[in-house]
Amino acid sequence: MKIISAEFETSAAGIEDSPAWNLPEFAFIGRSNVGKSSLLNLLVMKKDLARVSARPGATQLVNFFRINRKWALVDMPGYGYSKTPQALREGFREAVSGYLAGREQLRCVFVLIDSRHSPQKIDLNFCGWLAENGIPFVLVFTKTDKSKAGKVKENMAAFVSELREVCDGEPRTFLSSTKTQAGRGEILEFIDLALR
Ligand code: GDP
Repeated sequence: MKIISAEFETSAAGIEDSPAWNLPEFAFIGRSNVGKSSLLNLLVMKKDLARVSARPGATQLVNFFRINRKWALVDMPGYGYSKTPQALREGFREAVSGYLAGREQLRCVFVLIDSRHSPQKIDLNFCGWLAENGIPFVLVFTKTDKSKAGKVKENMAAFVSELREVCDGEPRTFLSSTKTQAGRGEILEFIDLALR
């Protein structure tokens, strides 16, 4: 898929103030600092679509972008940043889970996982919650340029294997690096196919 246009539409605190359009939506979420902003910028080839933030946890709203006037890219707040105050964390959780579980045109959630680490509970739990709620998701292992290929494979296999214990089936997986631009083509092709 060629990206012809990428326009910011709005920021929303949850499902209530999400755009009243019927564009198919693809949401991106992961732990703070997983490389989400960088990946989104790579996908649409814009330097500042999602501002690459130096302060983890700074993006607390759901941001909607209209892509090619055909689908929407949804940038979700990062989870699991320990310095976020507890009360705010609960607010996020409600906003995020309300959107994910209730948004009719949500086609797929891209869950970003840092490929440098062995499986983390917070990511496994989040995927388990998506599966329990019947929300379609795929996994993107980010920052693959930062470790040896063998290590990336090992972490990915371990994650998928642990995930099998919390949900049935195996989600589709992608490997990405903003440095080598790996994963861009595959992710856009996946979205393209999902739109047909
Ligand atoms: P976010 O908090 O999930 O939006 O993460 P950012 O996109 O702000 O990235 C966090 C840090 O990781 C930044 O310093 C990025 O430059 C770096 N980063 C993100 N993706 C990659 C990648 O694929 N390779 C490398 N080497 N660094 C990355």
